[in-house]
Amino acid sequence: MNMNERNSPDISRSYPRHRGGWIEVICGPMFSGKTEELIRRLRRAQIARMQVAIFKPSLDTRYDKDKLVSHSTLSLESTTVADAAQILTLANDAQVVGVDEAQFFGPEIVKVCRNLADQGKQIIVAGLDQDYRGEPFEPVPQLLAEAEYITKTLAICVRCGAPASRTQRLSDESNRVVVGAQERYEARCRACFEPPKAVK
Ligand code: ADP
Ligand code: ZN
Repeated sequence: MNMNERNSPDISRSYPRHRGGWIEVICGPMFSGKTEELIRRLRRAQIARMQVAIFKPSLDTRYDKDKLVSHSTLSLESTTVADAAQILTLANDAQVVGVDEAQFFGPEIVKVCRNLADQGKQIIVAGLDQDYRGEPFEPVPQLLAEAEYITKTLAICVRCGAPASRTQRLSDESNRVVVGAQERYEARCRACFEPPKAVK
């Protein structure tokens, strides 16, 4: 049994009369397997014949518009939304709601996840917990505070092979959101991470 299976809740089985919803957060740096883990949990919900709705922000223009796609090209059909409010409407009939790239949604996503969980739904939300400076990346810290279950995934440091918790930006752009993959970012451990010089 791996750690994620141990953390992955199955409340409905343990408590047959339990009807409440909950929030699961999967967080960590880029390349740490957040999307893979999100896909794994959502696939299991589909196998259990749950009604599953999956969303990602339109800002995430990498790969496919109609799919979650991991860096290892694992994929699952998803709906692209312009803002968090849209999720609330579109997830109406779902029992399980998956959200990727939560950091691109802004503070609104916290209220949306809370509202959906209050309706009795299982919410699984993945996102970066730190920005390129190593600072908390809102609204993920707020989601962590709200969540019942938290999984932190680590990548492999490309410099030294240690578990990596940071996302190193390879360019000197200073916008918080710069969408990209291997060409723009790499995973680094605490020791190998080099914070950008011009920290605002
Ligand atoms: P995330 O959603 O956290 O960015 P993904 O689930 O999209 O991560 O991708 C994880 C996959 O990325 C791994 O299974 C592996 O194939 C690949 N990968 C590429 N670089 C690294 C790295 N430095 N450390 C770990 N996995 C990496
Ligand atoms: Zn390192």
